[in-house]
Amino acid sequence: MIRISDIIDKITAYNPEADLQLIDRAYIYSAKVHDGQVRLSGEPYLSHPLEVAGILADMRLDEVSVAAGLLHDVVEDTHATEQEIEEMFGPEIRHIVSGVTKLSKLPFSSAQAREAESIRKMILAMADDIRVIMIKLADRLHNMRTLQYHRSGAKRRKIAQETLDIYAPIAARLGIYWIKNELESTSFRYLMPEEYTRIEALVAKDRQERESYIETVKRIIRQKMEENNLQCQVLGRYKNFYSIYQKMVKQNLAFEDVYDIIAFRIILDTIPHCYEALGVVHSLWKPIAKKFKDYIGMPKPNMYQSLHTTVIGPFGERVEIQIRTREMDRVAESGIAAHWSYKEGRTADPKTAATFAWIQQLVENQANFRDPKEFLENVRIDLFPDEVYVFSPKGDIKTLPKGATPVDFAYQIHSEVGNQCVGAKVNGRMVPLKYELQTGEIVEIITQKGHHPSKDWLNFVKTVKARSRIRQWIKIQEKERSHTLGREMCEKAFRKYRLNFNTLAKSEQMEKVAQGFGFKSVDDLIISIGYGKITPLQVVRRIMPKPEDAEQESLLNRLMGRMRKKKTGSGVVVKGVDDILIRFGKCCQPVPGDPIVGYITRGYGVAVHRTNCVNALKMNPERQIEVEWDLDTEEQFPAKIVIRSLDRVGLLADVASIISKHGANILSAKTETQADRTVESRFTLSVNDIDHLNRVLSGLKKVRHVLDVYRIS
Ligand code: MN
Repeated sequence: MIRISDIIDKITAYNPEADLQLIDRAYIYSAKVHDGQVRLSGEPYLSHPLEVAGILADMRLDEVSVAAGLLHDVVEDTHATEQEIEEMFGPEIRHIVSGVTKLSKLPFSSAQAREAESIRKMILAMADDIRVIMIKLADRLHNMRTLQYHRSGAKRRKIAQETLDIYAPIAARLGIYWIKNELESTSFRYLMPEEYTRIEALVAKDRQERESYIETVKRIIRQKMEENNLQCQVLGRYKNFYSIYQKMVKQNLAFEDVYDIIAFRIILDTIPHCYEALGVVHSLWKPIAKKFKDYIGMPKPNMYQSLHTTVIGPFGERVEIQIRTREMDRVAESGIAAHWSYKEGRTADPKTAATFAWIQQLVENQANFRDPKEFLENVRIDLFPDEVYVFSPKGDIKTLPKGATPVDFAYQIHSEVGNQCVGAKVNGRMVPLKYELQTGEIVEIITQKGHHPSKDWLNFVKTVKARSRIRQWIKIQEKERSHTLGREMCEKAFRKYRLNFNTLAKSEQMEKVAQGFGFKSVDDLIISIGYGKITPLQVVRRIMPKPEDAEQESLLNRLMGRMRKKKTGSGVVVKGVDDILIRFGKCCQPVPGDPIVGYITRGYGVAVHRTNCVNALKMNPERQIEVEWDLDTEEQFPAKIVIRSLDRVGLLADVASIISKHGANILSAKTETQADRTVESRFTLSVNDIDHLNRVLSGLKKVRHVLDVYRIS
């Protein structure tokens, strides 16, 4: 077990001015709160945070990272609280420890390989300080090193799979290749022990032969470089077993055919020397086309720099060669960590404690980036994409665009879940349906059978899927409604001619009629009647070219006359539906400006009533439909009013003149003298809208001897 003094020695070696007291205090606190806890290995629990801190010191990270490493499990596994951490170690360490704790609490479910990319992005998006990721990687590395102590094989495989799918790629993305390689190799050993052992044996076999091969190649390279006055170091090493295995599977090769299980590396002093060395290698051995990559000119986003080439070697075999400077080699091994590590003369700028300080550091240290801003942009986009990652209660992960709501999430699960969604809980608490989801949240959708999407949802949903599903539902609803309406209208109209519409609807004759109107099916014809584009009478005429009963027809005509055919001019729009038959309730006679509601009647189109109309209140709410006034209308509408006045000569003439002066018309009038000699006059006027009516009413109130004027329904 590593001791705290070993860790302090490591830190002092690369940063003599480090705040060692901080490390000491973190160690003592961690030892105190973990006291009595034991690892599966039987060692005291403290060995784990110590090893993790040791790995972080190996990565030459700052003392804050190492201290946070010592404390990384205290909030999750002991009685310690985040507040206590802040009081004792300050907000920076609290922020990092809290980030690590949050990551360990993410409810990943097993067998999520296909969601691995989302999970990786989620982890990167959640860790707003790169040191959180470093600690998480060190934590995972030590847990993999001690995986044999887990008694359950299934558990071991689950952890190994997660490491391979999630953590090794994150290490690669950050450019920390030594961690990536170790995580891959260890996972491979637990997931495919037979293949691992086989490759291990194959590598060991003919070892001597291979070693002498490595020496030969190294000698030839060194010699050639010397001839060209290039000072260099040449390395030859075996690739990690997992990469060899992948190569065999991907390229369907036998082990003997995997030539490049050995990779050579040439390390030089300067960048110009690297390109010179490349020229030398290419003149020595024939390069394989398209295998050359210049990561010096075009560094990877994780700042990896190197020249890669593959050539036909001295024995006709493929040889993979990397060429880079010493500094590049250091970055290649520790990636982003190389830029984070202690640099002499670094001043304690308060800004460096800020959340994104590490990115600034990267840019400052990266003089050979031509455009640091562009680089910054790339890192940001990579680490904080415009996406949020949330969980279902079962731990399934869903990727959504930023700003997405529970409704988007519901449609992501299933169209029906979306359609029947009535509410949502986030982390166990109820939220409005337009709530903006945040990465890491657990979202639970509450559904209700028979519930339907609302048009309002279109105002806040962010995903194409939700939007199109809501629209689709509204369209289907309109169609269904028009179909019902159309059928009822036809039934009624056909009955007047003693025809049974429902029987006829299934006949070939009706099919021909539909085609005659240009429809594919009878249903389409019925829908069109519901929309008001065609009247039932037009259909009757095609079925019965010469109606026999003239009286019946005139009755129907009168009936139809009562409905105003809507295209333009009825003054009312049924929401979301064009061209529908509109009829106004005789009972309440709405005028534009009145709050109104529509009802689908049996055979008479949509009846429009004022919302406070007694008859409307009695109607079946299932047949209710949203309607609104079309403000462009030029029609006039009937309205009933009552004028109470004293009896006098010329009163009616005065009233009539006021009404016409205001541009309204009298449709009917009836006057009664009461026992108390007052007069009650009832008028039906035609007016443009509610404002117009109110102007007429207040004009009438000024007429001499008028006591009261009001609208009735
Ligand atoms: Mn841990």
